[in-house]
Amino acid sequence: MKKGKQIYEGKAKKVFETDDKDLYIQEFKDDATAFDATKRGTIKGKGVVNNKISAVLFTLLEKKGVKTHFVKLLSDREMLVKRLDIIPVEVTMRNIVAGGMAKMLGLEEGIALKSPVLEYHYKNDALHDPLFNDYHIRALGLATEAEMELVRKNSFKVNDVLREFFTDKGLQLVDFKLEFGRHKGQVLLGDEISPDTCRLWDKETNKKMDKDRFRRDLGQIEETYQEVLKRVEG
Ligand code: UDP
Repeated sequence: MKKGKQIYEGKAKKVFETDDKDLYIQEFKDDATAFDATKRGTIKGKGVVNNKISAVLFTLLEKKGVKTHFVKLLSDREMLVKRLDIIPVEVTMRNIVAGGMAKMLGLEEGIALKSPVLEYHYKNDALHDPLFNDYHIRALGLATEAEMELVRKNSFKVNDVLREFFTDKGLQLVDFKLEFGRHKGQVLLGDEISPDTCRLWDKETNKKMDKDRFRRDLGQIEETYQEVLKRVEG
């Protein structure tokens, strides 16, 4: 697979064209940002960890019937993916109160939710990804009813599959963010699933094993990313 022109550079990844117009290469960087990129840094080895963890999780999800953009790993930092027309909606799934939900509703972090909470955020950095709902999405024509039905169904399915998987690895899946896109008439799960996009707490100690170590300057950042990869692969 020939790596072509770079078509996009985001905060944590670069995307390249290939000689197949339906396939892109997604390259994971070590750059880390938080709080709308006002905090910037580097987490050594993060790109490799997130590439490998995403590959494992996309492969597992495909096996469980969730269609994803993942095709195969190409190298330590690169994966081959299907080209997506990204739906500008970030889906957040929550099992335990943390982060934005704690802040918005004035709750303590760590409260176990009686049932998973699904949130939609408008994918727009300039507006700080504001919370909105399916009425906004429909009214603005961002996605069709049928597409959002698939997004919703698959998001709950991903939560079920990943919760079970991480529990087995001694990790609580607190919350995570997903992005979906269109590919040849299908709705596929895209982006990445990694400690950058999930909150993971150790089951025994509640230690934060995700990007909150960087956001909140908790230390042992590199080591923790490596530990999550070890558990995911183990
Ligand atoms: N998240 C993400 N990208 C974003 C915002 C959130 O990957 O732009 C992830 C985040 O890592 C967490 C979950 O989505 O696992 C919920 O994040 P939250 O809404 O609590 O926002 P945050 O506390 O990160 O500002």
